[in-house]
Amino acid sequence: MDAEIIAVGTELLMGELVDSNSAFLASELPKLGMSLKIAVKIGDDINDLLKGIESALIRSDVVITTGGLGPTSDDLTRESIAKFFEEEMEVDPTLLNDLEDNFALRGIKMPNPNIKQATLIPSSIPLPNPNGTAPGWFVNKDGKIVIAMPGPPMELIPMWKNHVVEKLAALSGGISIATKNIKTFGRSEGELDEILSHLFGQENPYLGIYSKQDGIHLRAIAKSDTDSEATSLISQIEHQIIEKVGADFVWGQDDDTPAMVATSFLRSRNLRLCVTESYTGGAVCGLISECELFDEVFFQGLIKTPVKKPIIDYQEPNQSCNDSCKADLHLNISPLLLEDTNHNFGTVLFKISSQHTTTCISGKYRTGNSRMRQRASNHALIELIRFIKSTYK
Ligand code: ATP
Repeated sequence: MDAEIIAVGTELLMGELVDSNSAFLASELPKLGMSLKIAVKIGDDINDLLKGIESALIRSDVVITTGGLGPTSDDLTRESIAKFFEEEMEVDPTLLNDLEDNFALRGIKMPNPNIKQATLIPSSIPLPNPNGTAPGWFVNKDGKIVIAMPGPPMELIPMWKNHVVEKLAALSGGISIATKNIKTFGRSEGELDEILSHLFGQENPYLGIYSKQDGIHLRAIAKSDTDSEATSLISQIEHQIIEKVGADFVWGQDDDTPAMVATSFLRSRNLRLCVTESYTGGAVCGLISECELFDEVFFQGLIKTPVKKPIIDYQEPNQSCNDSCKADLHLNISPLLLEDTNHNFGTVLFKISSQHTTTCISGKYRTGNSRMRQRASNHALIELIRFIKSTYK
C-alpha cells in the first residue's frame, strides 16, 4: 500500500515548529510494508486541507494526518475529512462522556468548544487518546483510508503504536515484514556502499544506508507471506552485512544507543565507570544517566567547564567495594583536561575499573556546537564499547 502524510498546522509553515511527527511516521511505515510517497505540510485552512486530502487519495491508498484535532476554530482536520467523505460530524455520546470525565478528573468544567473533539462521522472509528483530549479518527471507506491523529508527539506516538499499527497491518494483505537496523561506526558511507553494492540493488530484502550522529546505519526490510520467512530473509542479510563490514565496525542494532550498549556491556562484565569530560557540556554523563540501571556501573562524572580553576567536591562512592577499588574510583582531573583550553575540541576520559584493575582511555573530539557535542559524546561511547569488547571478552 502507498501512503502519504499531511502534517497540519500553520506554525509548521511559519518555521515555528519542526515536523517530527512525519519523521516518526516515515520510519514506521516500512515496518508495515507501506511505501511513503509524499509528505507535506498544510496550514490551518479547510480548503487547502480538503485539496490536500483529495490529491493524496488520488495517488495513494492511505493518508495520515497529524495535528489540527484541537478544540479551537482553526483546528480543522476533522471538518476537512468530513467534507471529503461528504459525511456529517455528529457528537458521539460515549466520546462526550469520556471527555467530560477527563475534564472532571482535573476539576475543570469542559469548555463548549471542546465538544467537537467528541464528534465522529459515520465512517470513522475513534482512536483512543489517554494522553490528551482529542481522540483520533480511522476512516476506511470505498478503499480509501484516512487516519487523523493529534499533533503532540506524546499523544500521537502511543496512539499510532497501540491503535493504528494493528489496523493497518490487518489491511496490508497478510504480508509479514521483518526489519533489522545494523549500526556501524568507523567505515565511511562510500566505503560501505561499495562493500555492500551487491545488496543495495535488490528489492527484497531492501537495504537502505543512512548517515547518523552515531555512525552509519544499514536498515534491511524483508517482506514475505509468513513471519518465519521474513525473519529468515532478515537474518541472512544481517549475516552477510556483518561478514562484509566486519564485526568490529558494528556497535549495535535496532533501537540501541551507544550509551545503552556501553552501560549493558559494563554491567554484564561487572565493571565500573568514571567519566571526565571537557567542552562537551556534560553530554556523555547525560547520555549514560538516561540508561536503565546506569547507577549500577556509573560511579562518578566530572564535567570541566571553561572556568579556569574548577572547584571539585569528591564524594565517596556508596557501593560496597574493597579499599583498593574505592581508591581507584576517585576522579582526578587529568592534566589532559586541564591543558584543554580550545572550546572547539572536547576531551573525554573514561576510567574503567574491575575488582582488580583500572584502565583509562581517552579521546579528543570536535565540539563546536551542541550537535557536534552530541556527536562527539556518541563517538566517545562507541570507542568505549570497542575497548570493552576487545579487553573484557
Ligand atoms: P491539541 O489538542 O493539543 O491542540 P492538535 O491535534 O490540535 O492538538 P496542534 O494544535 O496542531 O495539534 O498542535 C499541538 C502541538 O502539537 C503543537 O504546538 C506542537 O507542540 C505539537 N505538534 C503539532 N504538529 C506537530 C508535528 N508535525 N511535529 C511535531 N510536533 C507537532
